[in-house]
Formats: sequence, structure tokens, C-alpha cells
Amino acid sequence: MRIDIVTLFPELCDSFLSASILGRARAKGLFEAHCHQIRDYTRNKQKQTDDYPYGGGCGMVLYAQPIADCLRAVQAQCAAQGRARPHVVFLTAAGQPYNEETAKRLAQYDAVTLVCGHYEGIDERVIEAFGDEEISIGDYVLTGGELASLVVADSVLRLQPGVLAEEKGYQDESYWDGLLEYPQYTRPEVWEGRAVPPVLLTGDHQKIDAWRAAQSRARTRIRRPDLYERWCDTHPITDFPKWKRGENMRLVKTGEQWAAAAALFAEGRYAVCEEVFTPLYLDTLTPENCRAELLEEKRGGWAFYLHYTAGQADGMVGVCHKTGRITHLFVTSEARGKGIGAKMLEFARKKLPEHPHPTLTVLNTNTRALALYRRLKWRPAGVETVYDPAQDPTAAVYTEEWRLRYEG
Ligand code: SAM
Repeated sequence: MRIDIVTLFPELCDSFLSASILGRARAKGLFEAHCHQIRDYTRNKQKQTDDYPYGGGCGMVLYAQPIADCLRAVQAQCAAQGRARPHVVFLTAAGQPYNEETAKRLAQYDAVTLVCGHYEGIDERVIEAFGDEEISIGDYVLTGGELASLVVADSVLRLQPGVLAEEKGYQDESYWDGLLEYPQYTRPEVWEGRAVPPVLLTGDHQKIDAWRAAQSRARTRIRRPDLYERWCDTHPITDFPKWKRGENMRLVKTGEQWAAAAALFAEGRYAVCEEVFTPLYLDTLTPENCRAELLEEKRGGWAFYLHYTAGQADGMVGVCHKTGRITHLFVTSEARGKGIGAKMLEFARKKLPEHPHPTLTVLNTNTRALALYRRLKWRPAGVETVYDPAQDPTAAVYTEEWRLRYEG
């Protein structure tokens, strides 16, 4: 790949591209980089590169002509090398937001030319005439496009074969698969009283990979819900975890089973409501009250099932044949992360074959459940209830209960 940077500060850009990992790769000929001085292409005696803006206003604007001539020179150099016309990117604060997807796309070109603005910017006409796209590296304004062009160059060049020691080096990193990276640790095992998570010391790579994947998903869900939502859409759960030996679902019938369901319901609802409702309301979530509520719902047509692992009830779900609704999908905190929720939801859905689009409700604060439903192809279908502290004395913060509909 060939990268050209068109700038008023070629030395600055060149020195960055000559250092560290990129510098070594450049010296090995794994990519070519050329930094061009815009001033060298001026046609006035003073080698002036900018002028006052038409229409007035503060600051100066870069002339179109020297940039255009520089870009033509780069095109001629590429043609002489037998390369295609370079893809031209203008770095502007008003450009499209930059991300790893764009880096991957730009890395496919044989030649990319990055044009750096300065002062108030660049005469728009040269952008119109030569630009294939405009990129912004973030919602803030820099004094010049040099740092932005180096951000783009660095993220694109590290994807070139051979630049990183191992391809896996970038495939595991943040944004590659749309998720943030899991936390990393190195020696010593205990630093200032903080120990490395024990799973990383087991040498069991299946367990380590599973732990890292779970960390990666949890981090993204909490820190970048926007990314996580997109990831859920593009990563539907099609491969269900297999039912294990000693694992089964049973209809709640006996007194013992009602007690287990009530305990699970109380624990599950408490966890979901903890951040959202007042302590006074949370105090009402006792197994006794929950049992009474479940029995009332049974009279209204609901059936409840318990999930057992090795004889221990660790999950529950309810279905209503009359209405095609699913409710109270809960897994004990110890049993989470084993795919039990997904299996129970599929079980419940299949209990309702007469309803092709069953529904359920979930609090919009329950991002873990929302992510699971999204990956299982449940989609928002409206707001069922609003819990507003201004009107509802049990609500601690404004929360919505969303209705979801199965769209698989
Ligand atoms: N007047 C411009 C505006 O309000 O959009 C800002 C010009 S800025 C001071 C000077 C140059 O820095 C721009 O021409 C551009 O090349 C670069 N620049 C500033 N912020 C940038 C960003 N977020 N991403 C990419 N380039 C940026």
C-alpha cells in the first residue's frame, strides 16, 4: 500500500511514520509513505498558501491551487508506479465520523492520499474536485489535519499484512468485531494488593476465551450501549447452547415447586428493580408476596416452569396460552452466563406454537435482558407502562417498561 500525506508540516508526519512499529514496517518495505509540502506547489513569489475568506470572517483559508497541483503530482507518481488513481481523503472537522469499519475499508485501497487542512480550513472547490470522502476523527476541532491524518494512516497501515507480528493481534482488539476489548493483565500476579483474575492463570484456553468474550460483551454493553445494540443485531443467537445432562424444565405444580418459583421470582425481580424503585417498594418483594402474585396469575391463565440443573431450581419462566405472552424470565445470579436464559426463552416460545409473534415486557434499564432478547430476534413494539417518580411513589427514577414482540 502507498500512503501520501499532503500537509504544511511534512516533517512532523514523516517522523511519526518512521518511528516504532510503523517505522520498522516502512523500512522493510511493507508499505510506502510520502509526505508532501503544500507550499512547494504554490505559484506566487511569496509561497503563500492561504488567504482571507470570501464573505469575511476570522482566520485564513488554504488555496485550492497548490493542493490541486500536489494531488495531480501524487496521481502522476502513482500512475508511474502502475498503481490505480489514489483514493483521496480530506481530513475535516465536518467529515464523516471515523471508526474501525472505515479503517478496514480504506486498508483495501492500493493508494490513499490524506489531505490536511489548517487555519480555518480549505477552499471547498478543491475538496469538491478531488475529494472521494471527508473524514473527521472526532467531535472536536484540531488546529490542523496532521494528527487526524496520522490517526487514519496508523489505523489503516497496521492492518497491512506483516505490519503487526500476528494477524490475531488486531483481530482481538477493540472494535474489530464491533465490541470493546476485554481487560488485559501482565506480571506480577498481584500488584499493590490487586490480583489478576484467576481464570487467566488456569492455562485452560477454552475457559480463558469464554471469560474474555463475556468481559468484552459486558464492557461494551455498559460503556457503549450504541455499539452493543448494533453488535446484537449483527450477532443473532442461532447456535443455542445444548441442553446438558441433568438439566430440564418442569411445570410448577407441587408446593415445593411453588416455593422455589416464588424465591426465584423475588430474587429476580429485586435484581431488576433495585436501581429503579424505592426501598419501600423493594421491601414488598418477599417470597410470600411473590408466591401470592404467581398464584393469582395462575388463576388468570398463566403456567410457570422451573429450570433445573442437577436437581436444583435455578431459573423460571411463565407463559400464557390465552394471550401469547411470556413473563418472569429469571435465572439465579450463580447460574447466569451459562445460556440458561436463552434456552428457557426458546422453551417458552415453543410452548406457544399457536402464537407466531408472542410478546413480553422488559424494563428499559435491564440492558442485559434487552441484549439477550435482541439477539433472539425480539423487537420493541411500544411502551407498556411508564414509571415516573412524579406520579408513581414507588418509582425512584423515570423508567419505561417496553413491550417486545418476537420477529424471528
Ligand atoms: N473551520 C473548521 C470548522 O469549523 O469545521 C475547522 C478548521 S480546523 C481549525 C483546521 C483543520 O484541522 C481542518 O481543516 C482539518 O483539516 C483539521 N481538523 C480539525 N478538527 C478535525 C477533526 N475533528 N477531524 C479531522 N480533521 C480535523
